Amino acid sequence: MSFLEYAPAPESKAILNLRDSYGLFIDGEFVDGSGKSFTTISPADESHIAEIAGADDADIDRAVAAARRAYDKVWSKMSGRDRGKYLFRIARLVQERARELAVAESLDNGKPIKESRDVDVPLVASWFFYYAGWADKLDHAGLGANPRALGVAGQIIPWNFPLLMLAWKIAPALAAGNTVVLKPAETTPLTALIFAEILQQADLPAGVVNIVTGAGSTGAMLVRHPDVDKVAFTGSTGVGRDIARAVAGTGKKVTLELGGKAANIVFDDAPIDQAVEGIVNGIFFNQGHVCCAGSRLLVQESIHDEVIDRLKSRLSTLRLGDPLDKNTDIGAINSAAQLARIRELSDIGESEGAERWTADCAIPDKGFWFAPTIFTGVEASHRIARDEVFGPVLSVLTFRTPAEAIAKANNTPYGLSAGIWTDKGSRILAVADQLRAGVVWANTFNRFDPASPFGGYKESGYGREGGRHGLTAYLKGASA
Ligand code: NAD
Repeated sequence: MSFLEYAPAPESKAILNLRDSYGLFIDGEFVDGSGKSFTTISPADESHIAEIAGADDADIDRAVAAARRAYDKVWSKMSGRDRGKYLFRIARLVQERARELAVAESLDNGKPIKESRDVDVPLVASWFFYYAGWADKLDHAGLGANPRALGVAGQIIPWNFPLLMLAWKIAPALAAGNTVVLKPAETTPLTALIFAEILQQADLPAGVVNIVTGAGSTGAMLVRHPDVDKVAFTGSTGVGRDIARAVAGTGKKVTLELGGKAANIVFDDAPIDQAVEGIVNGIFFNQGHVCCAGSRLLVQESIHDEVIDRLKSRLSTLRLGDPLDKNTDIGAINSAAQLARIRELSDIGESEGAERWTADCAIPDKGFWFAPTIFTGVEASHRIARDEVFGPVLSVLTFRTPAEAIAKANNTPYGLSAGIWTDKGSRILAVADQLRAGVVWANTFNRFDPASPFGGYKESGYGREGGRHGLTAYLKGASA
């Protein structure tokens, strides 16, 4: 029996002003693509949202040429102060159109509206505000004597935080004086195209930002285009490898933000209720479609049963369903392909001998859904302890001593993030120091701030986004 029954509270879609079809955004205008167009759908009910143009080789040529012209004639000649004004203007327009962007993001991606409204879109605005402030200070930021832009950046982003990843890419690139050709993911192009309208509203000079839509092959063309000076990629480790090979020896600068398999370590002196909330936020936020998700829970053996019991009762209160409902905690899985991968890895987890528990929630008839799932009794050698599931699936392992926790946490090919839950500040510092992860959260998880650099070790990629460090990836000869 459920103690809390909520009436439906859907956010209205009336605020959206969507077109039936979207072209490519090149040289300040929407133009037809020469590639094969595709449909973007809502993963919550598989309904059609809009037809999207596909970019082929000729379109990538056009977009890169527009970015080069804008770089040579306008953007590289403009003062940092004026570039900053455009970025401030974009940030303010994102705030003005925040509700519309949040509704579009939840519709196209499947994430709960309370996340797109309270996390994604506010962070997008804060990223543009933050880098707007840097644009006129590059000469005074310890980035070298004469930091200069690289030129044209080719940027490729994934579907899990479509608009936020766009902001992580575009804001520092423009602040540092580069122009951009960006390719959103094929399942979530909508907010990037609304963002193109915002650029028109902001009167950003034509060609400074170009948005090309299409599948992986479109991204591959952009990476290989000879007139691209810098490649910035966020996505899977497999594609990251392919990109690293493609740019090797070309002189292109590259940053790769790839996958993760973060350890969230809970010591026996941790405040358990807060830790349980942190575990939930760590792996069930955004349906676990988070590169830095706390997908491996390492819990001290003495508190294992208590933590798991409390976690199960907490998960039983989460509401799964309509992403546009303001009470929804768990939205839809982004695509049928991703759902198939989550199912496959979960079945492997069970066949390898881990114990599977799934929250008892009603699954809607249409769309792509996966209920929050926990695996206990997981061994370090199991696939669910090693492979990135990228879904609402938690693998639980135990440890007895801090040394064992550190060894298990580092026993992964990835190194993007980690979490530590303990009452002792000294233990936080000692353990964090030994974790091979780009970000370590202490008594919290999945917190983002534009001033804080983010990035990985090992197979999680290289380069940092965010903060002053994020500028160096877009400047000649600069190091943080
Ligand atoms: P993906 O690598 O399949 O796709 C990412 C983007 O790359 C998409 O736009 C896609 O069209 C494009 N692409 C695909 N093949 C390409 C190719 N050969 N050349 C150039 N571009 C190509 O990944 P995904 O399934 O969209 O995203 C999930 C992955 O992204 C997860 O592994 C996740 O961990 C990672 N991710 C990492 C971060 C981070 O900051 N480290 C953030 C979000 C997601």
